[in-house]
Amino acid sequence: MPEPRFKKVHIYQCPCGYRYDPEKGDISAGWPAGTPFEELPEQLTCPRCQRAKIHFREKRFSVAA
Ligand SMILES: [Zn+2]
Repeated sequence: MPEPRFKKVHIYQCPCGYRYDPEKGDISAGWPAGTPFEELPEQLTCPRCQRAKIHFREKRFSVAA
């Protein structure tokens, strides 16, 4: 049996369900891939619901690769 492989996911999620993945960035919001959440502007608002950055919650988990 092949060894299960897991990929660590580190994202930031808004209460509305919008997720920011620093690896992918969010081109539609003007954040290129690889932009760390910490480097997003403090006045950032969620592209979907306009909540402020402080409402985003850090989430780390593993998924099967
Ligand atoms: Zn939101």
